[in-house]
Amino acid sequence: MTRHTPAHDRHWHGLSPEEALAELDATQDGLSEDDARDRLAQHGPNRLQQGHGRPAWRRLLAQFNNLLMLILLVAAVASLGLGHVLDAVAIAGVVLIIALIGFLQEGKAEQALDSIRDMLSPRAQVLRDGRRQEVDAEALVPGDVVLLESGDRVPADLRLLEAKRLRDEEAALTGESTPVDKAIGAVDAQSELAERSSMAYAGTLVVQGSARGLVVATGERTEIGRISELLRGVETLRTPLLRQLDRAGRVLALIITVMAVLTAAFGVLVHGEPLGEMFMAAVGLAVAAIPEGMPAIVTIGLALGVQTMARKNAIIRRLPAVETLGSISTIFSDKTGTLTRNEMTARAIRLPEGEFRLEGTGFAPEGAFHRVCDGEALDEPLDLDDHPALGHFLEVGVLCNDAELARDEGRWRIHGDPTEGALVVAAAKAGLEAGELRGHHDRHDAIPFESERQYMATLHEMDGEPWLLVKGAPDRLLERCHRVRTAAGDVALDPAEWQAHLHALSAQGLRVLALAEKRAEGVDELTDEHAADGLVLLGLVGLQDPPRDEAVAAVKDCLAAGIRPVMVTGDHAVTAQAIARQLGFLHTERAISGREIEAMSDAELEEVILDVDVYARASPEHKLRLVTAMQARGGVCAMTGDGVNDGPALKRADVGVAMGIQGTEAAKEAAEMVLADDNFATIVGAIREGRKVYDNIRKTITFLLPTNGAQGLAILIAVLAGSVLPATPLQALWVNMVVAVTLGLALAFESGERDLMRRRPRDPTAPLLDLFLLWRVVFVSVLLLLGVFGVFSWLFNGQGTSLELARTAAVNMLVTGSAAYLINSRFLHRSSLSFSGLFGSRPVWIAIALVMVLQLGWTYLPIMQRVFGSAALGLAHWLAILAVAVAIFLSVELEKGARRRLHRRRGERDDHGHERGASAREEERAEAR
Ligand code: ADP
Ligand code: MG
Repeated sequence: MTRHTPAHDRHWHGLSPEEALAELDATQDGLSEDDARDRLAQHGPNRLQQGHGRPAWRRLLAQFNNLLMLILLVAAVASLGLGHVLDAVAIAGVVLIIALIGFLQEGKAEQALDSIRDMLSPRAQVLRDGRRQEVDAEALVPGDVVLLESGDRVPADLRLLEAKRLRDEEAALTGESTPVDKAIGAVDAQSELAERSSMAYAGTLVVQGSARGLVVATGERTEIGRISELLRGVETLRTPLLRQLDRAGRVLALIITVMAVLTAAFGVLVHGEPLGEMFMAAVGLAVAAIPEGMPAIVTIGLALGVQTMARKNAIIRRLPAVETLGSISTIFSDKTGTLTRNEMTARAIRLPEGEFRLEGTGFAPEGAFHRVCDGEALDEPLDLDDHPALGHFLEVGVLCNDAELARDEGRWRIHGDPTEGALVVAAAKAGLEAGELRGHHDRHDAIPFESERQYMATLHEMDGEPWLLVKGAPDRLLERCHRVRTAAGDVALDPAEWQAHLHALSAQGLRVLALAEKRAEGVDELTDEHAADGLVLLGLVGLQDPPRDEAVAAVKDCLAAGIRPVMVTGDHAVTAQAIARQLGFLHTERAISGREIEAMSDAELEEVILDVDVYARASPEHKLRLVTAMQARGGVCAMTGDGVNDGPALKRADVGVAMGIQGTEAAKEAAEMVLADDNFATIVGAIREGRKVYDNIRKTITFLLPTNGAQGLAILIAVLAGSVLPATPLQALWVNMVVAVTLGLALAFESGERDLMRRRPRDPTAPLLDLFLLWRVVFVSVLLLLGVFGVFSWLFNGQGTSLELARTAAVNMLVTGSAAYLINSRFLHRSSLSFSGLFGSRPVWIAIALVMVLQLGWTYLPIMQRVFGSAALGLAHWLAILAVAVAIFLSVELEKGARRRLHRRRGERDDHGHERGASAREEERAEAR
C-alpha cells in the first residue's frame, strides 16, 4: 500500500485541512496531470457499480424465460420422444435463432440508451497543474482538489479546504433533507456522519454557497458506495407501456395455451386423431398465436425514439418519458433563454434626471447614447461628460457584476450571465472598461444573484470608503430604497413615480433591473440583512431580449396540437406579458405573480389556472404549485427548470425538463429530459417525436396481431373441423420468426403522419389496445384466414395437389398477405392508396423485399424443403397468391374509408373519443374530395 491510499476508517473529518493534504501527498493547488493519471490507474475510476451491466450470457439466458420458449422446448423434447428427430432439431434450431434475435435486438436497444447516458455523465471542476479545468467525474482520484458551487452534486468524498456559505443537502446519504451548514474546522473524530461538517460526501447536493475540497475517497470507497451500490436509479428497459404489454401478453399466452390443449383434446376425443399428431397441433397453435416478438419490437421503437430525440437535442433520462411526452397537454416554460434568445442588450436607462436610449446590436460595444425628451429620443448623440450620474450608474452596473466581455475570433462574446453581460456592454459603449474598473475598486465580498433572492450585492472599496452595491428586480429593490441619488444630493423617493417608470419600460417588453448603493461602514462579510433597507436608488435599466424565432413557430405548433404553452418567469409581469404577446401566447390579458399565487388557496389556483398563461416573479415553489394545480385539472404537464430548487417541480411534473447549458446538475438529475440547447422548440420537437413513437407502436401492434390471429385460427378451425392442418407447427414457427424480424420492424421507422401535431394530446388513461384496434385485428385476421384457407383448399381439395404444395402455398399466402397489410398499417386511418402511401417508406419496402427473399429460399432450397416440408410452387400459384394479397389490401382500404366516413358523420371524433382539432378535420375533408 502506498502512502496516499485512503484507509476506510480514516477520520478525515477529524484532521485539519493541512493534515489531510499531507496524508494524501497533495497540495492546495491540486495534483499534476501525471500524478492524477498514476493515481487513477491505482484506484480505478470514480464510479459506482451500475445495475444495468448484466453480463451477456445472463441476457441470452433471459430470452428463454418466457412461456413460448418453454412450450417450444417441451415440443422439441416431445418430438424427439415421438421419433421425429428432424422436427426436434428444427424446433431447437428455430428456438435458438429466436433467442439470438431477441438478444441482439435488446442489446441494440440497451446500447442506444447507454450512449445517451454517456452524454449526461457528470462533470467536475478540478485544479490540475494549478489550473481550473473540467473533467469527467469518473476521472477523479484521491488527492484531487475539487471546486463546488450551488447546484452541484458532490462527485466524491471531500475534506473541505475552503467553504463560503456552503450548505449541503445530504438526503441521499443520511435521509435528512434539511440542508446542513458546512465549514472547514475539524470535528470530533467520533461524530456521526450527519455531524461531520468538515466533509462533503459523494452523492450529496450543494444547495448554496461554494467550496473547495480535497478528494479523500472515490468510487466504491465513498460513504455512499459503502452503503448502497446504486446511487442513480437503474434505468431499465421496462416502461409502463411495456409492462402493460407484458401483462397483456402473458394473459394472452395463457389463454392460448389453454385453448390449444382443449383443441387437441377435442381432436383426440371427437375426431379420434392420434395423440402425437394432436400434441403437435396444439404446439403449432400456441406457437402461431402467441405474439412473442412484440415486446422486443416495442422496445426497439422506444429506443429509436430516444435516439432521434437525442439527435434533435432532447436527451431522455428515463425511458417512460418517451411515452409520456406524447400525451403532454401543458408546457410550463421558463422565459429567459428558453423562449427568448438570452442575448440581452441594454436599451433604456432611467435616471432621476431623465431617460436615455442606447443604440447598437448584440454584444459589440458600439452604439451611441441619446437623451429622451417627451418620449422621443433626440437625434444627436449625447456627450457623456455632461452626465456624470450616467457614468456612475454604468460603473455600478459593471462592479456589481460577474460577467466578462471578450472577443474571440472576431466575435464579441459574453462569459457569464447574459443579463450582467448586457451591463458590461452598455458600459463599454460609454468607454468604461470592466477589467480596469474592477481593478480600481477591489471587491471584498459578494452575494451572488439567485432567483429566490432577486438581487445581487457586492462590497467594494471606492475612493477609500466601503460601499455596498446592489442590483436586482426593481419591485424588490424599490421597497428597500427610501431615497434617490440626484445631482443635488439624495432626495426622498416617490414610489408612484418610479413604479410608473418601471411600468413604462416593462410594457416595451424590456427586462428591468434597478441599481442602488449604500455606504457600508464596518462590514466585512455580507449577509442579506445588509441589503435589507436604507439603500439609495440610482436608476433603472431596461434590457431587450427578443423571442427566439423557433419559439414563435413552436408556440404556433403547440396551439395547433392542443398543447398550452405557459410562461413561468422571474421577470416583471408587464415584461412577461409583452414577451408572451410577441410569442403568440393565447391568454396574455392577465398575469399572476408569485405573491398572488402565495395568497391563493389550491382551489383558487385551480380555478384560474386554465385562463392564465403568464406567471411572473415566480420562484421554484410557485412552479411546484402550478404543476400540482394543473394536474388537478387533468393536465399532463412538462415543466422546465435549471436551478437547485427546481427539483421538486421537475419531479412532480409528468415530464421534468432541465436545461443542458444553464442547468445545474441537481436540475438535470431531477428531470426526465435534458435540453442540450435550452430551447423551447426542442421540447415541442420531442413531443412530436413522442407522439410518433406511440403511433408507431400502435401501428406495429395492429400489424403484428392479425398474423398471429390468422395462424392460430387456421389451426383451431382445422382441428375442430377434423380436417388437415393448412400449416405444420414448424411452418407456423417459421412464419412467426420471419415476420417478426422483417415486416414487424418496419413500422418503427415510420416518420410520423402529417396531422401528428394537429391532433389533441392523447388521453393518458386511454388503453393502448382500444376497441378500434381490436376490431381492426379481428377484421384482418379473418381476411388473412380466408386467404390462407382459400388457397389451401383450392389447391388441396380443388386441384388435388400434394399436401406439401398446398401447405407451401398457404404459408406463402399468409406472409404475402401480411406484407400487403403492412402497407395498410402505415396509416391507421388515412388512406394508403396514393403514391407516397404505397411507396413512401423505404423500411417497409426493404422489409418486404427481405421477407420475399426468405420465402423464395424457404420454398425452393432443397434443405428448406427437407426441414420444413415445403415444395416448389409454380408461376400460377404465385399469381393467385398475389391477387389475393391485393384483394386483402384493398379490403382494408375500403374498411378505412368506411370508418372515415362514419367518423365524419358522427360529430368528428377521433378514435380516442376526443374532439379533433379544426385543422385536422379540414385536412380530412380536403383529402376526401
Ligand atoms: P427568469 O430567468 O425567469 O427570466 P430570473 O429569476 O433570472 O428570471 O430574474 C428575475 C429578475 O431578477 C429579473 O427580472 C431581473 O430584474 C433580476 N435579475 C436577473 N438576473 C439578475 C442578475 N444577474 N443580477 C441582478 N438581478 C438580476
Ligand atoms: Mg434567470
